[in-house]
Amino acid sequence: MRRAVFPGSFDPITLGHVDIVERAIPLFDEIIVAIGVNAAKKNMWSLEERLQMLESTFQDQPKVKIASYEGLTADFCKKEGAEFLLRGLRNATDFNYEQTIAQANAKVNGVDSVFLICSPEFSHISSSIVRDIARNGGDFSGLLPETVNI
Ligand code: ADP
Repeated sequence: MRRAVFPGSFDPITLGHVDIVERAIPLFDEIIVAIGVNAAKKNMWSLEERLQMLESTFQDQPKVKIASYEGLTADFCKKEGAEFLLRGLRNATDFNYEQTIAQANAKVNGVDSVFLICSPEFSHISSSIVRDIARNGGDFSGLLPETVNI
């Protein structure tokens, strides 16, 4: 079973995340889209709301499972029997951030990272931009999957 974990905060999930998951579906037998819970991090949407967004977005994808976890992402991968971590790359900043983490995960935990370059039409989308628009009362609906109603 070729299993990957796609970890993130998904605060909220965006069309950019969906693009990465949908393009990765042919590569894996199962993809676990997993919310990493960090008590120190202040999120805009609660864990329950974010899980619900993920559930409704991927309800028609039998290969996609939804989960949340605390602690190290690599430990969660081991627990789930996932040998791969899936990540999306928008630009060089994402790459520089991801590179050392991916190398450490491979060396220390034996979990290899698989990166997909973001589709150009989504490269401007980030959860933090959505939160910014939300805080200022703007319309962010075009940046989110239609199944998400927040
Ligand atoms: P994190 O808190 O780890 O940054 P995010 O929820 O922001 O989590 O993102 C999870 C993953 O999705 C990361 O690999 C990130 O690079 C990727 N990602 C975020 N936005 C996009 C996008 N617009 N296109 C492609 N990948 C994206």
